[in-house]
Amino acid sequence: KREGRNSIRLFKKENQLQEHIDEVIMEAELHKALEEDELTVYYQPKLNTQTNEVHYEALVRWFSPVLGTVSPLKFIPVAEKTTLIQDVTKTVVRKVCQDLKKYPELCASARTSINLSAVLFEADLINRLFIDVIEAYQTDPSKIEIEITENMLMKDPIKGIEIVNHLKELGFRVVIDDFGVSYSSLNYLRNFSLDGIKIDRSFISQIDQLDSEKDISIVHFIIQLAKKLNLHVTAEGVETKEQFDILTSLGCHEIQGYYFSRPLPVEKIQSALDHFFNY
Ligand code: C2E
Ligand code: CA
Ligand code: CA
Ligand code: CA
Repeated sequence: KREGRNSIRLFKKENQLQEHIDEVIMEAELHKALEEDELTVYYQPKLNTQTNEVHYEALVRWFSPVLGTVSPLKFIPVAEKTTLIQDVTKTVVRKVCQDLKKYPELCASARTSINLSAVLFEADLINRLFIDVIEAYQTDPSKIEIEITENMLMKDPIKGIEIVNHLKELGFRVVIDDFGVSYSSLNYLRNFSLDGIKIDRSFISQIDQLDSEKDISIVHFIIQLAKKLNLHVTAEGVETKEQFDILTSLGCHEIQGYYFSRPLPVEKIQSALDHFFNY
């Protein structure tokens, strides 16, 4: 029995060691990827349910010749442990600005949102990673929306308020991502001057199932509350027509998800939109 336990412990240690090695390798590869410009940005269109207006979310993609396709869910946390997250973010901002320039017809009336990691909550970092780049490309800041995840703001609410205000002063829209998953969701609405919220996919994925009354009630409540507070409401992870119809009937302003479109390289967006609207 004793030996069994020891070997489990050893196994755990080996696992941790392997995880650590994987991280070190990924970090080194990411460093190279940034130097060799391997990162790209995909855009996921979001659809306004009332006006058919389309906006976009920029999502970073890494197709590594060594590691294959690496999900941002894997490499963003690794980047966040080092200063590599700064380079990743700057690269995303730069590519978004370049694409906005190159495809003016796509973005004439559209906004593009960029995800901001909470480890970058410093005014001078924001200036360096966002403002310097945006000014270099003469991008209008009102075309850019910043998404901040909820649990990140609450780790240090005072800093969070400062950063949200700083971003607003610079002319960006600011929305809360993954809304509803943290226990203190409602506090945000009170203390932060936000433009909108994105309801987390976990609330959306079941609303078209039988016995979904609870989920529908929660989503309905969030939408009503947001509207009372003059916040724009987006539902993320909308995959089916049933989900889309329910959200539209509940008055949700905007939907994002595979039902409307997957994240796409910029050059594929126009044909995807044509395809959707011609149905
Ligand atoms: P997120 O900000 O919540 O982004 C939404 C994620 O859901 C994206 O995954 C998107 O591809 C996926 N998604 C969209 N529609 C659907 C749907 O209908 N069903 C399902 N199952 N999934 C859907 P992705 O691109 O893998 O990104 C994962 C996370 O990585 C993002 O979650 C975000 O937290 C982070 N991330 C992505 N790009 C960046 C970036 O440029 N900077 C930072 N800091 N984080 C990023
Ligand atoms: Ca997001
Ligand atoms: Ca999200
Ligand atoms: Ca989410």
